[in-house]
Amino acid sequence: MLSSHSLRCTGCGLRIAQNEARSNFRCATCGDLFEIEYPWSATRDKATDAGAAANQPNPNALRYLWQERRTSTLAADQSGVWRFRDLLPIVPVDKIVTLYEGNTPLYEMPRCAALLGMNWLLAKHQGMNPTGSFKDTGMTAALSVAVANGFEWVACASTGNTSAAMAAYAARAGLRSLVLIPEGKIAWGKLSQAMDYGSTTVQLRTDFDGCVRVLAEIVQRAPVYLLNSVNPYRLEGQKTPAFEILEQMDWQVPHHLIVPGGNLANCSALGKGFAELQHLGFIKRVPKISVIQAAGANPLYRWMQAGGVGPFEPVEAHTRATAIRIGNPASWKKAVKVLATTGGWVEEVSEQEIALAKAEIGAEGIGCEPASAVTLAGLKKLVADGRVGKEETAVLLLTGHTLKDPEYTIQYHRGALLSDKEAAAETVAQRAANAKLRREPVVLDAKVDDVLKVLDAMQAQPA
Ligand SMILES: *Cc1c(COP(=O)(O)O)cnc(C)c1O
Ligand SMILES: [Zn+2]
Repeated sequence: MLSSHSLRCTGCGLRIAQNEARSNFRCATCGDLFEIEYPWSATRDKATDAGAAANQPNPNALRYLWQERRTSTLAADQSGVWRFRDLLPIVPVDKIVTLYEGNTPLYEMPRCAALLGMNWLLAKHQGMNPTGSFKDTGMTAALSVAVANGFEWVACASTGNTSAAMAAYAARAGLRSLVLIPEGKIAWGKLSQAMDYGSTTVQLRTDFDGCVRVLAEIVQRAPVYLLNSVNPYRLEGQKTPAFEILEQMDWQVPHHLIVPGGNLANCSALGKGFAELQHLGFIKRVPKISVIQAAGANPLYRWMQAGGVGPFEPVEAHTRATAIRIGNPASWKKAVKVLATTGGWVEEVSEQEIALAKAEIGAEGIGCEPASAVTLAGLKKLVADGRVGKEETAVLLLTGHTLKDPEYTIQYHRGALLSDKEAAAETVAQRAANAKLRREPVVLDAKVDDVLKVLDAMQAQPA
């Protein structure tokens, strides 16, 4: 089982065994990131490689088996990550740490589709995972590897959701966990989770990128297993929503998948998932994967605008969408490859655009955290100039639950979210849309007539 995969450097192609990985998961030769490779991977040369030709997975058999497992009572089968374990054989089944993650809903978004003039818009809601974000799918994978390798401590630097996920899975496994978060720049819901699940939480007086730098040193000096998304096992778990989306669409491949971009690991993982299914013959083509960044945290967007050549310049990140407040994304090269091979785009969206899109997703009865709403905001731009056709099918990847950041939502509905400058930059149409969506609580005396007046007033407005 453990020899069934190796780590391949995405920079220089170097292959190493899993026990040869350095504690910071960087290539000793070129410093780049690794990806997990299997005997059946496209990067293996079948002509010269005996192991590569053997045990080629069979799509029809696996499609059936993956569905079948949903009715099994085995913990690994009930997980929406591990029921696909045939394509991520990274730990023995008895080492799996699961909270029954994955198996998340794929929702229709008829009102958002109508706003865009599209026929069909879907949302894969990864916020419906056990700790409320897609990070659970990656954490179950990488933390199980930590258990299999006998670690006692795990650690991550986090904008919030990674720490919530790590804390929960570490607690389940009986491991101890260290969280480094930027002081004062994370949503309360997330910080409370790390505490609730018993993590040792340290707030550093720096930003996310500063936390990453400190942790990179710590894992070299102490026997602590690094669970940031430079850990390639995270991506193996995070590729499985690609499999679920296809199952949920009866193996019809959507034209577009729209993903928020922070550290850029998630879009890379989903790209890997679709590419593997195409390589193995499950599907004939893959969706175009587009990445949306907040305008205040847009290093990938800038680099692509500058022609996609030259040095990659980190930025100082500013956005209320704290989950993507990342100026120096670790997985940018992997993401660039996914954009190039699938034909997707990078867009940036303003704080005003994020706020409106989040309210529109909320008004569908779905809801999401601010970072997830960049997908709808970005899709508007892709549809406006025809990069996404109105008759095409798009799937928004909603990354986090709306309750992760209730303060943002309340401020929006009170009209207190945006700065004066941001509010002044809103278009007439945006202002009108916000006015229709806002639901500020009204305070009244306990009189029936007063409440009925509110009903009458709302009734007079078009729904
Ligand atoms: C982590 C996170 C992101 C960003 O994902 P990356 O892999 O860092 O690009 C987006 N949204 C939410 C809710 C997240 O938790
Ligand atoms: Zn290398």
